Amino acid sequence: MGHGWQGVALKLMRGQDFTFTVRSNERISERLHRLSFSDGGMLRATGTHPTMWVRLWFDNGGRPHQRAYTLVDPDPAAGAFDMEFVLHAGCAGDWARTARPGDTIDATVQGSEFALPDPPPSQLLVVGDPASRPAINSLLASAPSVPATIWFETSHPADADGIPHEEAAGRRVVRVPRQDGGAKLVETVRAALPAHLDPAAYVWIACDTATTRKLAAFVRKQLGVPKERLHALGYWRP
Ligand SMILES: Cc1cc2nc3c(=O)[nH]c(=O)nc-3n(C[C@H](O)[C@H](O)[C@H](O)COP(=O)(O)OP(=O)(O)OC[C@H]3O[C@@H](n4cnc5c(N)ncnc54)[C@H](O)[C@@H]3O)c2cc1C
Repeated sequence: MGHGWQGVALKLMRGQDFTFTVRSNERISERLHRLSFSDGGMLRATGTHPTMWVRLWFDNGGRPHQRAYTLVDPDPAAGAFDMEFVLHAGCAGDWARTARPGDTIDATVQGSEFALPDPPPSQLLVVGDPASRPAINSLLASAPSVPATIWFETSHPADADGIPHEEAAGRRVVRVPRQDGGAKLVETVRAALPAHLDPAAYVWIACDTATTRKLAAFVRKQLGVPKERLHALGYWRP
């Protein structure tokens, strides 16, 4: 399967292409599968960074369907990493549900660059949901001594599991049930975040696109957080 105009555009933006091979597929819950991959030489070529993600190419009835997924525990020496797929009705979720060892999938690396400020921030103020949980875990692991508050939106009781770094000192997870298409999360964060903010804090937001846009605008325009202290990226479209 070719990658269509999106593949051509990514090549022009210096995207690097690789083919991953599935090593295992573990069903963590009815909502979550964890797949392990051989990296097709990617990690040695690209290196790694916190919250690193790649564009995977799924087959949608013969047409290319590109979706982003985050690397979990990337190991350049072994040429391997895991990914966690939240399942819903969609090509990526369908593929992850049924993938078997030996199956392959194409990937393009482009656009994932990310680094925390140096010196490290005074604290991390994080807003996310299950799709961004692997990135949140990677972010927290990259700055183990930085305190963090994480507003985490849940759509299902099982969504509340799996933020392993939350027990660390100075870290707190505030769970917010998804209501009214993300409105409850927006309201909760708008009410609580200003009291946490200080000039050396870093704000990281990744939830659905509309919620992310609203919260990023609030943080930038109403709270005056400069762009070097804010990362906001919509992870999925409702
Ligand atoms: C940088 C980046 C990194 C990401 N990393 C991960 C990751 O590690 N793990 C992960 O699971 N997801 C991750 N995502 C989100 C993932 O790319 C999207 O959820 C994607 O839309 C899934 O594609 P699909 O083909 O399954 O569904 P689509 O065809 O995009 O959508 C099908 C239906 O499912 C709904 N839907 C899609 N995603 C979600 C969701 N997350 N929650 C609820 N409903 C949804 C849509 O609204 C639509 O109705 C990441 C996104 C970005 C931008």
